[in-house]
Amino acid sequence: MALIVQKFGGSSVSDAESIKRVAKRIVETRRAGNEVVVAVSAMGDTTDELLDLAAACTPIPAPRELDMLLTAGERISMALLAMTIKGMGVEALSFTGSQAGMITTAEHGSAKIVDVTPGRVREALDEGAVAIVAGFQGFSRDSRDITTLGRGGSDTTAVALAAALGADVCEIYTDVDGVFTTDPRIVPRARKIDAITAEEMLELAASGAKVLHLRAVEYARRHGVALHVRSSFSNETGTIVYDPAKGHPKGAQVEEPIITGIAAEKNEAKVTVGGVPDVPGKAAQIFEIVAKTNANIDIIVQNVSAADTNRTDISFTVPLEEGRRAVEALEAERESVGFLSLQYDDQIAKVAVVGAGMRTSSGVSAQLFRALYDAGINIEMISTSEIRISVVTRADLMEQTVRVLHTAFGLDSDTEATVYAGTGR
Ligand code: ADP
Ligand code: ASP
Ligand code: MG
Repeated sequence: MALIVQKFGGSSVSDAESIKRVAKRIVETRRAGNEVVVAVSAMGDTTDELLDLAAACTPIPAPRELDMLLTAGERISMALLAMTIKGMGVEALSFTGSQAGMITTAEHGSAKIVDVTPGRVREALDEGAVAIVAGFQGFSRDSRDITTLGRGGSDTTAVALAAALGADVCEIYTDVDGVFTTDPRIVPRARKIDAITAEEMLELAASGAKVLHLRAVEYARRHGVALHVRSSFSNETGTIVYDPAKGHPKGAQVEEPIITGIAAEKNEAKVTVGGVPDVPGKAAQIFEIVAKTNANIDIIVQNVSAADTNRTDISFTVPLEEGRRAVEALEAERESVGFLSLQYDDQIAKVAVVGAGMRTSSGVSAQLFRALYDAGINIEMISTSEIRISVVTRADLMEQTVRVLHTAFGLDSDTEATVYAGTGR
């Protein structure tokens, strides 16, 4: 008997009809003789609607109360799903994150899983029931409070359960047929990827491909969980995320493509500290100030200093919601650091081209820059890793940049991808 963890995202359970459709799929998996654990997200755009509601009540909601509010979303979907499955004649029990033993750190809104003790889930399985677990939520032993794992965190709930229960596979059901060469909402001719290495998936997820939560990919890699991303609206096989050390899942001797996929995001801001004295220790001072605000810095660029002033500019990118804090902290230290100006720009986008084949190919950056030049797109910042090149452009050029690069690197498919549901929010 196999143990299968299935995760259903919000757009797969957006209304009663969808819940019945998903319940049917779960019942079929159970009746085929498998043990089934389900992680479920809040219905449709519930999480966004709850966030809007909180913002309408108070400008800066208390993080503890916000987590209480948001976790209610997954409670609704888990209970509806469990009762629907029971109504179809299969035993099912729903569990909140804390009942399912998802033990986390205490940081509200971005808690990390520290332990998984799924005793009640195991008992439910032993009794022949399907266990439905609320995604995205946990419990901190330190604060004794309910926490959330960050947006998109239900994927991580599913992977953590799969690892703790020793599942045979973790299936991530969503509103597209798998992981594509880029977001099919931006490029309808994006191509489905049959199998992608965990390393490439990590870079894509870290660069904004929200089809999988970054921490879910990390967790799966660390614990050797097999991931299968597929649609809850079709029976197509989706995308397998695999460890190349264990070989390609189809046993194929495939040549690595140079470019595997393109990811993009607008949720970034650029901070430029101008007129920084070009002496040792200034970068350390600036980034220590920023680090104290807990901002996650991504790309950093420092210019050569002007010969006449011996001053330089340092720019860096941070997630949008952390940018203002970083700027306020720097402003407060303007005199002690000795810089002359501070600029904040939230109209930027980051586009990343990812491919393990880049390691062994030259000329990829030249090809990328040429394609953007031909399309008249200005590059503001550049950063690279072994298997990724990221560029920063104006926010309103993001979609065009993705399309241009998708075509330039020969990724366009002959057919259009199906986006089955969801608002893309
Ligand atoms: P769920 O609610 O199922 O968790 P998400 O909205 O979090 O779904 O993720 C699925 C969405 O991710 C797709 O509808 C698609 O718009 C977007 N997406 C971004 N990049 C990719 C990609 N490379 N492949 C597939 N989907 C992607
Ligand atoms: N409901 C949460 C969100 O919208 C978690 C998830 O769907 O993965 O971010
Ligand atoms: Mg998601």
